[in-house]
Amino acid sequence: VKRSYSGWKEADIDHLERSQRDVISRSQAAVLNAVRDSGNLSRAQVSDASGLSLATVKRLVDELVSAGMLVEGSFVSSPGRGRKPSVVRMNGAYGHSIGLALQPGRLRATAISFDGSPIYHEEALSVSREPGELVEQLLAAAAKAIDACATAAQGPLLGVGIGVAGLVDARSGTVLYCPGIPGWENTALAALARERFGVPVCLDDSVRCMALAEKRYGAAKSLSTFLFLYIGLGVGSGIVLDNRIYRGANGASGEFGHITVKEHGPLCKCGNRGCLEALVSTEAILARARELIASRVYTSLDHQTDGGSSISLGHICSAAVTGDRLAGVVVGEIEENIGIGVANLINVFDPGTVVLAGEVVEEMHGLILEGVERIVRRRALHAISQRTAITKSLLPVHSGERGAATLVIEELLGNQILNV
Ligand SMILES: [Zn+2]
Repeated sequence: VKRSYSGWKEADIDHLERSQRDVISRSQAAVLNAVRDSGNLSRAQVSDASGLSLATVKRLVDELVSAGMLVEGSFVSSPGRGRKPSVVRMNGAYGHSIGLALQPGRLRATAISFDGSPIYHEEALSVSREPGELVEQLLAAAAKAIDACATAAQGPLLGVGIGVAGLVDARSGTVLYCPGIPGWENTALAALARERFGVPVCLDDSVRCMALAEKRYGAAKSLSTFLFLYIGLGVGSGIVLDNRIYRGANGASGEFGHITVKEHGPLCKCGNRGCLEALVSTEAILARARELIASRVYTSLDHQTDGGSSISLGHICSAAVTGDRLAGVVVGEIEENIGIGVANLINVFDPGTVVLAGEVVEEMHGLILEGVERIVRRRALHAISQRTAITKSLLPVHSGERGAATLVIEELLGNQILNV
């Protein structure tokens, strides 16, 4: 039996098989995407947003309402104004998808309903570094989320999305290489999960998942081209060009962390020197601060952090605000290094918008964002940089797993953004 998962009910399975069999047409997807991006829309507004004629939109909306993907109603209150306009919105109860995000030392699981709203969250901070155990941990986290969401109100399970910090082949659903997990190579993770749960499974790089979440729910909503830069445990990027995730010839695009910024800089995990990741990842920043403390630069951090042993990004921020010289040097270097990296990317891609995210950005944006922008303006071509917005993510937490869950919805709608 293909679908023997314990939490499932007969009715769910019927519904799921029906929904997988139905191929959503391009024009139906255009309607669904317009409604998903904007919330409640009247048929005339859907027509404006999708470029489809009003007559076509009326027919498609009827089809999608009877398929259970859209619901109709007067969701906007307009007191005393006569007949309320009839609007449609995504039907969250159509189904839900599970998203997992694996980052070094951290596994997070979420579930979102068909309209994108989060309905479940779970986090594990102890993650095995043994590939076999890790795969079991991932599958167990998915099973737990599936069980937790197996209620009629949330509709059937539409699929599972997995984001992994590493090199992945999204097309075949294979983890090619994962820097944090030695020996975890060429694993057909999506196929394993599909076999276990009997639903569609999508796999992608975790930073690309974050970029997708930003595009659907965050700072890049309604943008067709942008760069998403993650600076935290590692450094990476998601490149969205003309409404498609750009993957590169080998599926390995976006290794922003390994562009060389300082020729003779610190050694990087990849074997090169002076990579951006070796300069501005959380660990790299803390190592640099410790190095300066050890070299006896006078600083309040020496005393506060036991000679640097207990130092955090928060310590560096508070010290920088009070004018501590060492913290000021560290912050200046972060601005310079990120600024150089961003300026190079802007010159190559002309992205219009750069969204910065990740632990370093979340903790330090108040201090570094202006400096990064100043360096970008100085180094990138003026004609491009003056037309480029540099902004912070609007999804400070959980965007990796939310994006992973969103992969399933994109695939269900046949959206080309996945570009696989
Ligand atoms: Zn590197």
